[in-house]
Amino acid sequence: MRLVEPILGYLPELEAIRRDIHAHPELSYEEQRTSDVVAARLTEWGIPVVRGLGVTGVVGIIKNGTSPRAIGLRADMDALPMQELNTFEHASRHAGKMHACGHDGHTAMLLGAAHYLSRHRNFDGTVYIIFQPAEEGGAGARRMIEDGLFDKCPMDAVYGLHNWPGLKAGTFGVVAGPMMASSNEFRVVVNGKGGHAAQPQRAIDPVMIAVQIAQAWQTIVSRETNPLDAAVLSITQIHAGSATNVIPNDAVLVGTVRTFTTSVLDLMERRMREIAVGVAAAFNATVEFDFKRNYPPLVNHAAETALAVEAMRAVVGDANVDTGIEPSMGAEDFAFLLQAKPGCYVFLGNGDGEHRAGGHGLGPCQLHNGSYDFNDGLLPIGASYWVRLAEMALAA
Ligand SMILES: [Zn+2]
Ligand SMILES: [Zn+2]
Repeated sequence: MRLVEPILGYLPELEAIRRDIHAHPELSYEEQRTSDVVAARLTEWGIPVVRGLGVTGVVGIIKNGTSPRAIGLRADMDALPMQELNTFEHASRHAGKMHACGHDGHTAMLLGAAHYLSRHRNFDGTVYIIFQPAEEGGAGARRMIEDGLFDKCPMDAVYGLHNWPGLKAGTFGVVAGPMMASSNEFRVVVNGKGGHAAQPQRAIDPVMIAVQIAQAWQTIVSRETNPLDAAVLSITQIHAGSATNVIPNDAVLVGTVRTFTTSVLDLMERRMREIAVGVAAAFNATVEFDFKRNYPPLVNHAAETALAVEAMRAVVGDANVDTGIEPSMGAEDFAFLLQAKPGCYVFLGNGDGEHRAGGHGLGPCQLHNGSYDFNDGLLPIGASYWVRLAEMALAA
């Protein structure tokens, strides 16, 4: 481990910031206090800030030398609408809100890097330190772009990081190309004709039609997509009816679709629609087909991934960087930034939860679990990675 030495001196402060943010979780686009904490620290360290991009977003600007080159380093700030089960000192003070994805840690690690870069400036160019709102479903990254992030802060590349429970603490994982999936949701209403359950001949039963659609959809992934292209179609809700002796008027199918490429997604959406419409027509019913694309696939760019690997290796050594990590079917709105700029997103191992000394819930230390906690042992590692990455990307 070759940590950036002065960052070790910031650790008490970084841990205090991390735990303070953890104790005061704020949901998407409500990260006002967190945004104030971030902006106050950056200002204290003499870093100019741009505020208001994406409502609560904050960007710190650290310049040095004369080079027009620039990169962005991004952390997310939002918490989740769920109950924390931990009882330790820094557990959430707001019922029903929790930093269960470690965005408190992401924010603290990036602040540590900003502190160091503002003091040492061992680079030539500009480092934009990006704190975004609303990663958890609110597309905060897209909102920052829409509000002019890349116009106000022109940059050549952008980098992101997420802690990853289950991966050994302090080790990194990355893969060039698709690393996280596109996330999409659908809602299909089958419009039949209700009636007495004892007189099916006088009704059009939407329940049986919904079942046939659900089964036929399962052949899209097994028979129509290329077997080498990953895709998931999960029907997570089926709603119909209210009595044992009534055929309802309609039935509703709800669920999610995940893919690593837009071309596979196009195929999935088109065939789901065709099958739903066609099956319904075969039984004299109609459908309302609603398909919503949320986050696009997260695709790492080759050259920026190679640079990120070099920076990770510089901090934790070659043996602790897995450059072929298995992609995740989860989604991440950093994908929007990677659609606009080249860059790379990496996983930093959060371990199995041994860092939770006491006062934690009985559940596993996994993302979006009420017993989760960010591993403070990662603070100097993540901050060191950001520093080395910036110094390599903007080498003097
Ligand atoms: Zn999350
Ligand atoms: Zn997250």
